[in-house]
Amino acid sequence: MINFYGINKQYGSFQALKNINLHIELGEVVSIIGPSGSGKSTLLRCINGLQKPTGGELVVHSMKIMDPGLKIKRLRRNVGMVLQEPNLYPHMTIIENLILAPVQVAHLSPVVARDLAMHYLNKVGLGDKRDAYPSQLSKGEQQRASIARALVMKPRIMLFDEPTASLEQEMVEEVLAVIRGLAREGLTMVIASNEISFAREVADRIVYMDQGRIIEEGTPADLFNQPKQRRTRQYLCHLQQ
Ligand code: ADP
Ligand code: MG
Repeated sequence: MINFYGINKQYGSFQALKNINLHIELGEVVSIIGPSGSGKSTLLRCINGLQKPTGGELVVHSMKIMDPGLKIKRLRRNVGMVLQEPNLYPHMTIIENLILAPVQVAHLSPVVARDLAMHYLNKVGLGDKRDAYPSQLSKGEQQRASIARALVMKPRIMLFDEPTASLEQEMVEEVLAVIRGLAREGLTMVIASNEISFAREVADRIVYMDQGRIIEEGTPADLFNQPKQRRTRQYLCHLQQ
């Protein structure tokens, strides 16, 4: 579903991704952990074409990302992304935020788009907030609405970039519960997050990155209980402190 073959990414003279080889299967949930600056966001952003790799080959749902003829709209329709900060349009109600892309990008009729939007709002527990503005919602609710907005496009792949890192502790669980539900449904997901207990629970595989490289990958049991690399062990110890 997602295949990185020797991917490099340079920002000027700085190399943010170094020879990334990573293969994610349909329905797999992969959690990427690693310190700030290790390249997690850059890796995710390559998957939906927000960043272009500078070397190697990357294939996402049969689309060659480096291909000059890449249909970026098609890629984005297939790959949803949720960021650390909820980014809803403040001047639109929640339902308006959700129907925007289905109507403008997928050319659904407003009536069909509304039904679809309500389905996903109910799914994240926000059906009763449809006519509220983002500022009237808690940050956890805004983040759940952001997830619903991505889901409305029926993506094949969902990317989450530290989806709970900006939330206060009491709101973290409601957002994780939504992601957990998506994992159960078999959606292919790549989640950058240092919520270790959550990664252990939902991820099929953990990837540990440092300084632009994949240092180690494995099942949660292997990587968390018996890390092979010294750097992985040091990082996990540091997180537990
Ligand atoms: P992470 O998400 O793990 O914190 P990032 O992918 O955001 O890591 O960043 C990896 C490295 O690349 C960092 O050193 C960061 O400063 C650098 N970087 C990220 N985006 C850019 C950019 N647009 N231009 C220049 N450097 C960047
Ligand atoms: Mg990041």
